[in-house]
Amino acid sequence: MPKIQVLDQNTINQIAAGEVVERPQAVVKELVENSIDAKANAITVEIKSGGIDFIRVTDNGFGIDREDVPNMFLRHSTSKIRTAIDLINVSSLGFRGEALSSIAAVAQVELITKTKDSLTGTRYQIEGGKARDLEEIGCPNGTTLIVRNLFFNTPARKKFLKSPNTEAGYISDLMNRLAASHPHISFKFINNNKVKLHTSGNGNVKDIIYNIYGRDIAFNLIPVEAQKGDLKISGYIGDPKISRGNRSYENYFLNGRYIKSSLITKAIEDAYKPYTMNHKYPFTSLHIQIEPSLVDVNVHPTKLEVRFKNSDEIYEMIFDGIRGALRNKELISQVKLVEEKEEVKEIKNVAEPFEVNRRASQNPPIQNPSGHNLPSQSLGIEKPKDLSYVEKQVKEDQISQTEIGKLQELVSEPTKFIKEELEQLSFLTEESVKEHRIIGQVFATYWLIEFDEKLYIIDQHAAHEKVLYEKIMKDFKGKTITSQNLNPPIVITFSMREQEVLEQYFDEFKNLGFEIEEFGGNEYAIRAIPSDLDGLAQKDIFMELIDNLTGEVYNQEPDILIDKIATISCKAAVKGNQRLSTREVHELIGLLLELENPYYCPHGRPTMISLTKYELEKKFKRVL
Ligand code: ADP
Ligand code: MG
Repeated sequence: MPKIQVLDQNTINQIAAGEVVERPQAVVKELVENSIDAKANAITVEIKSGGIDFIRVTDNGFGIDREDVPNMFLRHSTSKIRTAIDLINVSSLGFRGEALSSIAAVAQVELITKTKDSLTGTRYQIEGGKARDLEEIGCPNGTTLIVRNLFFNTPARKKFLKSPNTEAGYISDLMNRLAASHPHISFKFINNNKVKLHTSGNGNVKDIIYNIYGRDIAFNLIPVEAQKGDLKISGYIGDPKISRGNRSYENYFLNGRYIKSSLITKAIEDAYKPYTMNHKYPFTSLHIQIEPSLVDVNVHPTKLEVRFKNSDEIYEMIFDGIRGALRNKELISQVKLVEEKEEVKEIKNVAEPFEVNRRASQNPPIQNPSGHNLPSQSLGIEKPKDLSYVEKQVKEDQISQTEIGKLQELVSEPTKFIKEELEQLSFLTEESVKEHRIIGQVFATYWLIEFDEKLYIIDQHAAHEKVLYEKIMKDFKGKTITSQNLNPPIVITFSMREQEVLEQYFDEFKNLGFEIEEFGGNEYAIRAIPSDLDGLAQKDIFMELIDNLTGEVYNQEPDILIDKIATISCKAAVKGNQRLSTREVHELIGLLLELENPYYCPHGRPTMISLTKYELEKKFKRVL
């Protein structure tokens, strides 16, 4: 029988460290929060090698008395609460008394501190939970904590850390959020001897946003201010047009603490819904004030997640606050919108008076997702029933992974894939192309073509996108991509995380034809772009790439990255090229001809559909 033993304190601390000190970022977070709790108004964070080798946090807070110093590093030692009852009303950032003991258990820690009432300061060292020295020294008021060689005694944990650059990126994100949530504190962040962030602490939130996120965001802010009883929100949200491809710019703070909450995220995104496209996330920097007893921050060891007592009220308040702010901003352009609508209505009534009776006798037309009114079943369109349909397509067509994903998304969409049919009819062969009769374009999108007793409808955007995608992929694989110089270059501000992505994928960007250079501070200059993208919204393309890479596909293989880049690039490319002449459509069809699978765009949407003469005749009740 194994003997039951009570674990020694050090082992307990190491286990606890697993919860609290997940990575260097968590150490910085705990140390800075302690500085904030110590009422510091200037905090400097310096890291080396992503904080794995070295973290130093210096504050001008109230310091620690010498006799308290060794106790700070004991588990559950805290000056912030005395009993469990205090937990209900806690407003300081830390209170569990776990951080320092956990950090000291897995690193080499040095503390230098002095209170203003004491003439001399104290220096204390503790390594892997073992106290080394306590000595008297001369130093300024405040506290400095140095954490060296994180996880030096727990190599298994160390192995799970990411590259120093990635870890530094996490810390940079954290510093940005800390600075944004504490406008009255001056923060300085130094990474490998370079100052990455320095805020003034003058209380001006807009200044801080400018400092962190750059000009583009700072010039597109909408203030938000709302209050309901004890609940209060204030801060800034971004104009919907600066929304991004992932949630890293969607930040909010609860009683000064950066938190994550699905409730708040939902309220924000719901409020933005009518103003943004799918999969776009707004910029927010919101401060939420709430009576501390109405929120439980003790749910998570690192206190990132919270639980609310009155969640409905909070949702409503945030939703209303943001929606109101967005609506106010819209007022100016809305006037024009109303006029336009009325105009359209009038024209309709004048142009088709004879239609009124016939319309009244018909069922209302079915609205298709693109917003155009199409009578139901007009194209004999059927909805694919389930995923087995997609799987079948995959087997037969060997379509790419991206396309599979997009097809799966589409299975709810009222579109029938008609590849087999089209192939049988050999619409796209050298011979049949000669017989195509191009009728014209409708809705600035669809080209109508008559061929062999059928009406073919080509989605110009989807087709163009497909052609471009294949071209970029082919150029890339054949290493025949050419660059186009930009003069002046595009200058973009990147967060450290984004800068790291930039560095990580630098070779791929270069191979694709992008030429990117540091431009001082957090700014980068894009001096050249792939020639295929010439004349397009290059900046948007680039930002979307970065957002994508910072988000889900962070650690993916280069090939998938290229696929991503090609997809995004050509999507944007198509947006830019609205008008095509008949000659250009001929060319487009010619290009489609050369593709292995011309029937789907890279997102899995069909590039063309067909309507038989028979179907038309049925509609007109010529045949039954
Ligand atoms: P907690 O913050 O949950 O109380 P910690 O382990 O983070 O627990 O810190 C333990 C105690 O050490 C704190 O309660 C505080 O009294 C003291 N302390 C830590 N850092 C500082 C600092 N920078 N300035 C002043 N006191 C500090
Ligand atoms: Mg603490």
